Amino acid sequence: MTDIVGIDLGTTNSLIGIMDSGFPIILADKEGLRLTPSVVHYPASGEPVVGRTAARMRVIAPERTIFSVKRLMGRRPGETDKDTFPFSVAEAQGKVSISVGEKSTTPEEVSSLILRKLKTNAEQGLGRSVDRAVITVPAYFNDLQRQATKRAGEMAGFAVERIINEPTAAALAYGLDRLKDRSKIAVYDLGGGTFDISILELNEGVFRVLSTNGNTRLGGDDIDRELVRLLEERITARHPEIRNDLKTAALLAQLRELAHDAKLRLSEEPAVQIDIPFLPGNRRFGYLLARRELEALARPIIRRTRSHCLRSMDDAKLSPHDLDEVILVGGVTRMPLVRQFVAEIFQRLPNTSQNPDEAVAVGATIQAGILSGDIQSIVLLDVTPLSLGIETFGGLMNVIIPRNSTIPCKAGEMFTNAVANQKSMWIKVLQGERELAKDNWELGSFEIEFARVPKGVARVGVQFEIDANGILHVLARDTSTGRERVLDLTSAVDVSDETVEKMIAESLDHAFDDMAERVWTETAIKSNELLPAVKSALTLVGDQLTDRNREEIERLVSAVTEALESKDIQKLKAANAALDEGTQHLATLLIDRAMAEAEKRRAQRPPPTGSR
Ligand code: ADP
Ligand code: MG
Repeated sequence: MTDIVGIDLGTTNSLIGIMDSGFPIILADKEGLRLTPSVVHYPASGEPVVGRTAARMRVIAPERTIFSVKRLMGRRPGETDKDTFPFSVAEAQGKVSISVGEKSTTPEEVSSLILRKLKTNAEQGLGRSVDRAVITVPAYFNDLQRQATKRAGEMAGFAVERIINEPTAAALAYGLDRLKDRSKIAVYDLGGGTFDISILELNEGVFRVLSTNGNTRLGGDDIDRELVRLLEERITARHPEIRNDLKTAALLAQLRELAHDAKLRLSEEPAVQIDIPFLPGNRRFGYLLARRELEALARPIIRRTRSHCLRSMDDAKLSPHDLDEVILVGGVTRMPLVRQFVAEIFQRLPNTSQNPDEAVAVGATIQAGILSGDIQSIVLLDVTPLSLGIETFGGLMNVIIPRNSTIPCKAGEMFTNAVANQKSMWIKVLQGERELAKDNWELGSFEIEFARVPKGVARVGVQFEIDANGILHVLARDTSTGRERVLDLTSAVDVSDETVEKMIAESLDHAFDDMAERVWTETAIKSNELLPAVKSALTLVGDQLTDRNREEIERLVSAVTEALESKDIQKLKAANAALDEGTQHLATLLIDRAMAEAEKRRAQRPPPTGSR
């Protein structure tokens, strides 16, 4: 089978889906549940346990139960203060390691166990193996964090076909790719432990992230914690004598589960009955919890999302009425209070048509369907891995489509001939991040012909277009004759990650030298234009100069020639500038002569005959 699964690898919960007869379906595990808690428990002996069973161990064996590992995969830029975890986390040379008992593991490995569990669940449900996946990551994840996620997928036995942004996936799930072009969308994602707000813009079927903001320590867990505290207060108010007994792990686990269930039900019902039949000393506790009480606890937590929303709109230079749609993602957005709050911030009712805790997984699955050809409308959410351009005079790289441009895309530029009487141009298509053409990869080349013209007169437009299938079409057109040549290249987008990494590392290593070389080449081109121009001017109008002026110009000319040989960039720049300055008068004489010639030609031109 060639089908591809879509995976939401969440901080709190993870999900896996697949396209079935054109519809995205989220797959359930053996117990019929579609959310798998992103928790891994390492028992003292035996294999790690993943998912719901592991989640129950959080309170009982906190030092052996790893949760929120996604936070260790990647921090938001600027967030430096450490999370506190009940398990042991160490960081050395930017690499995070987690120790459980005598074992040491990494965030990637832990994530891979979660992914493997999803894979097993899916395979059991489908009765066949699934080996290819699309995995989502937060929009703010950088290259390294995306690579780490990809590696986790590979360790779990997946070929990771694509890593896509969570807000983009959510927008796909809400069907917003069908909105009109240039639509702006706010994606409000409040999960278990993280809050993310993203502003997207739809551009020819592709979502572009205009801004992201958020907080990796803000979410439903905070509400649970407050609710557990409230229940403890109520219990001790009624049974003050068991105050200390409440702190046992088993009872805390029970309280946390009760609080969590009550919170979920209060999103639907105005009040819920909470019962604890067996408290220490054979006491029992019953309490009718009203939604109002929960909301009073939750309000200050939810209010903290406000400043992030305002900042994201500021960064995107938008105000609420510029938005075409606001969508809700993350389990917590099922709370009526959150919906009301979002409506106030964005001054519009949020779109609640999708299940908020499944939207990201559904979007990943739709993307998987697009990749495997199950969905015909092509919305590729890919970017160019490396810059694309052509070689220009002097062996320089002239970038036409920069690295990380969203595909599909189109860009072009006009070029001219560097040499007089040139009658063709050789278009060399290059890929890479280096300043000099020779250090980049040549994808292909072709020649475009034009009429013989003086230097700088030809006008050749070169256009690069990457279509939705990732194929690069290079078009060159001579504007005077309309003659054009086309070259189609398939290899421009499918570049292995290792090669991309290597190219980028090299471009950084050589950035300084490359730049120096580029500046030298450009300055030398200028000298090589100046020298013959001055020489021909001297033969034409040199006799009109004073001897001193003539000698001075000759001295400046040899200074440029010397500087060219010396390879000293500062010297060459100064010599060019001096020659430019010192030949001002010569240039004026040349213009006067050209004007006199033109006048003469006009006088000699025969009048219209009118006899035809
Ligand atoms: P993540 O993206 O962090 O993995 P999710 O989107 O799955 O998280 O959201 C999990 C959070 O949503 C948890 O705090 C959970 O308690 C909360 N949640 C789920 N359903 C509801 C609901 N019906 N009402 C309130 N909160 C909910
Ligand atoms: Mg999520």
